[in-house]
Amino acid sequence: MLRLENTLTGRKEEFKPTRGKIVRFYTCGPTVYNFVHIGNLRTYIFEDVLRRALRYEGYKTLQVMNITDIEDKIIKKAKTEGKTIKEITIPFTRSFMEDLKKLNIEKPEIMPRATAHIKEMIALIEKLLQKGFAYKGNDGSIYFDITKSEGYGKLAKIDKKNLKAGIRIEADEYNKDEAQDFVLWKAKKEGEPSWKSPFGPGRPGWHIECSAMSIKYLGESFDIHTGGIDNAFPHHENEIAQSEAATGKIFSRFWLHGEHLLVGGEKMAKSAGNFYTMRDIEKKGYDPTAFRYLVLSNHYRSKLNFTWESLTAAKNGYQNLRDEIKRARAMADKKDKHNKSKEKEYLSIFKQAIENDLGAPEGLAEIWNVMKDKDLSPVSKIFLAEEMDKVLGLGIAKMKSRPVTLEVRKIIKEREMARTEKDFNKSDILRNKAEELGYRIEDTPKGPIAIGI
Ligand SMILES: [Zn+2]
Repeated sequence: MLRLENTLTGRKEEFKPTRGKIVRFYTCGPTVYNFVHIGNLRTYIFEDVLRRALRYEGYKTLQVMNITDIEDKIIKKAKTEGKTIKEITIPFTRSFMEDLKKLNIEKPEIMPRATAHIKEMIALIEKLLQKGFAYKGNDGSIYFDITKSEGYGKLAKIDKKNLKAGIRIEADEYNKDEAQDFVLWKAKKEGEPSWKSPFGPGRPGWHIECSAMSIKYLGESFDIHTGGIDNAFPHHENEIAQSEAATGKIFSRFWLHGEHLLVGGEKMAKSAGNFYTMRDIEKKGYDPTAFRYLVLSNHYRSKLNFTWESLTAAKNGYQNLRDEIKRARAMADKKDKHNKSKEKEYLSIFKQAIENDLGAPEGLAEIWNVMKDKDLSPVSKIFLAEEMDKVLGLGIAKMKSRPVTLEVRKIIKEREMARTEKDFNKSDILRNKAEELGYRIEDTPKGPIAIGI
């Protein structure tokens, strides 16, 4: 039974979807005005592990991840660079999709763009106005009145007494410490994009985007909402407040939050010069999957301190694993038998780790236990590693050595002959020759094998 820590209750709870075998879950997506940073990518990796784990448990996923393509920062950037909104959002959406692919993050079933759902946002705001949860400010913008929201603060555990109602926050750049009436619809400003609405021309605030799109695709009440911990307040709190006010139903039953990624012990910030994206990682010669390996080595609910040393260690770990897999493949024989009882045992330990609030570090350690088990046949090792990788997503199924060429096979034979003749000099030369051709010769109990490097 899968157990997940729910931010809403502060407890680990057994998880089951409410509608049959389908898990409906929502993931806050990127604001596409820049490359996403590695802290965000960490969150997307944890959410990918969640969706894979759900499928491993036998469920189907219906995951929605929004693309925020209208927001203060986008408008500001378009103005400074003299571009249209789309000239900013289209290329950065594309690069975001590339990042997901590089990190083996599966594409969510639905990825709606905010600007394609203005109608749904307007309808939701109208409902809030009708029910008396929203009001028009003197500036013409529509705000949500947090004093009307009974459960406000229940996710972030904020005391209602400290709410500063009546102070309005108009910007998408929100105050992370204080609860204030937040904007639902921003009245049109000169030179900014706007849409028509019954309450005047303008554009939606950031929070309403997620509520409108999740309700549209997942229903008024769904299973899981995920995001980075920095979004828990006020973004998610506001999502809950406005959605539950409009529908009168529980918005999401489970809330899962990925912890911060720190760089060298500090918060990542452009001004501090410790702000990294996937491009920085690749520029330094790291495989993106090494970053995924690093993320998997830490539980999503603990802070991850990123350093280049930690990434190097992850890179080595990942390469060693790849070598082990290739070696096992080279040694696997059709005549080999699966060790069924041991396989069952390993899979049960692995499942337990994942079912305990997505224990990816323990899951990864289990792959290593498998690879190091001397009593396990290579076919069993491959089977188990590929099975566990359904959740971890390191691309183990693709870790294959190139086919050994005729030329390399000849070299192996010649080398064997040289070795029987105790001509170790010749044997070394032949080994180097194979290496130049991209193959490493290794001597195993089954005889020499060649592994594509
Ligand atoms: Zn959101």
